[in-house]
Amino acid sequence: MSLAGLGHILLHFLVPLLIARVCARAHWRNALVWMLLAMLVDLDHLLATPLYDPDRCSITYHPLHLWPVWPLYGLLALWPRTRWLGVGLLVHMLLDASDCVRQFGLAELLARMFD
Ligand SMILES: [Zn+2]
Repeated sequence: MSLAGLGHILLHFLVPLLIARVCARAHWRNALVWMLLAMLVDLDHLLATPLYDPDRCSITYHPLHLWPVWPLYGLLALWPRTRWLGVGLLVHMLLDASDCVRQFGLAELLARMFD
């Protein structure tokens, strides 16, 4: 795995931690647990062959990562009981999208997303 790949995985832990500490001060541990549970969305990678491909953009490939599902994650973020799960899913999608931008550039990502 490349250094960029390791950095990407590290961000999946650090960004939720930062958001939890800043936005959910008194209940930051609970918020963090829910946001980390959002990483279970990567179980849709089990449907792919090969399971891991460093050159694949998950935002345009894996079913739970496709942009039409994102509004559902936004709705989860609006509901108080599911807020941190929804926020975690949205953060996850943004981090994965940023990795695709790093790999292919924004124009190519948008072309692939809406093709
Ligand atoms: Zn992902």
